[in-house]
Amino acid sequence: MQYDTIIIGGGLGGLVASIQLARQNFNVLLIEKYAYPFHKVCGEYISNEVKSFLESLGLDLDDIGATKIQRFQLSAVNGKSIETRLEMGGFGVSRYSIDHELYKIAVKNGVNFVLNTSVDEVQKINETFFIDTNNGQTFEAKVVIGAYGKRAKLDKALQREIPKQSTAFVGVKYHIKYNFPKDLIALHNFNNGYCGISAIENNQYCLCYLVNRNIVKQSGGIQEMEAEFMSKNPFLRDIFKNATFIFEKPLVINEIIFLPKTAVDKNVLMVGDTAGLITPLAGNGMSIAIRGAVICANLVNRFLNNEITRDELENKYTKELNTNFRNRLWRGRQLQKLFGDEFVSNLTVSVLQKMPILLNPIVRLTHGKML
Ligand SMILES: Cc1cc2nc3c(=O)[nH]c(=O)nc-3n(C[C@H](O)[C@H](O)[C@H](O)COP(=O)(O)OP(=O)(O)OC[C@H]3O[C@@H](n4cnc5c(N)ncnc54)[C@H](O)[C@@H]3O)c2cc1C
Repeated sequence: MQYDTIIIGGGLGGLVASIQLARQNFNVLLIEKYAYPFHKVCGEYISNEVKSFLESLGLDLDDIGATKIQRFQLSAVNGKSIETRLEMGGFGVSRYSIDHELYKIAVKNGVNFVLNTSVDEVQKINETFFIDTNNGQTFEAKVVIGAYGKRAKLDKALQREIPKQSTAFVGVKYHIKYNFPKDLIALHNFNNGYCGISAIENNQYCLCYLVNRNIVKQSGGIQEMEAEFMSKNPFLRDIFKNATFIFEKPLVINEIIFLPKTAVDKNVLMVGDTAGLITPLAGNGMSIAIRGAVICANLVNRFLNNEITRDELENKYTKELNTNFRNRLWRGRQLQKLFGDEFVSNLTVSVLQKMPILLNPIVRLTHGKML
């Protein structure tokens, strides 16, 4: 049997693309490496730019206990801090819950799932894609969407030219209980990284940070690095001293890079982080994945209805992704240079303390309009 579309990876990008296409009555298969629900390294703060859109899919944010986040605090390594009201704001909910809810909505809309399965190979012969999985299955489709996240072995199989970045990062996440306002997201700098904290459901908080890989190696491990580097910031020191950590071990992902990637490779349309990851300090990688999925699904819809050719599909998709996100991703990379360095972060926060009017325009630079 041939599917209209196969989607590789069921994070927010893959799930939203699958729902959009199934709603147009296309026969969609989504292949995901794990089975829902499962945890994922992510700061779990979602910009309100996609709130109404997610609700229009049938997602009940109150029902899953999402928190409303309206204030932002930034601290330097020395503990100096500044706070502002977020113009657009956002909400906090775990990936465990939101991905699971979207999965249930996708199933309701008729999306087919193959879970606990990784895609190893994609080949296109004439107009048919053949997808091989790690457990020996082969599936066929007219269109393939790659929504497999930051990096996967599949990049190699697709011979993607992933740029090399001298400083790769490590991402770490905990869920914690801590005495902290529910409407605040804080971004605390430490030498060689930054750490976010914000409320999610069930009176818990997501504590998630990005750190230079070399520092973790130098310190001899995650815990050693937390004690040596992170605890210099008094806000982080207090969290590590007084919070109750819910996971037995932190969730960790390695080798994160932020350099631009291509939108289409070997005729596979890339969505979300697979097409390029925004620096997490911007707090809206999830919104970008969702917006990109909508753009992709609209164009795939036109291709499957024979309104545009495959060449037009690929060219238009590349152009629309560039128009919508290239500058935003670039600004995120530039902004990240102000973070994670002790001297620069202390200076940045001092300047912002003197000119607080600058903080909101900076936040605005990394955000999009309402979807
Ligand atoms: C430290 C850190 C903090 C962040 N904090 C935030 C934040 O607070 N707010 C925000 O908006 N963004 C944040 N982001 C970014 C955000 O997590 C991503 O942009 C978002 O998850 C992208 O969604 P996606 O669907 O593209 O990828 P993902 O959510 O990563 O989904 C990809 C899926 O593909 C599956 N997969 C991988 N390989 C295969 C394969 N071969 N076959 C089948 N399935 C496969 C994976 O299991 C996964 O479920 C953060 C990122 C990092 C690194």
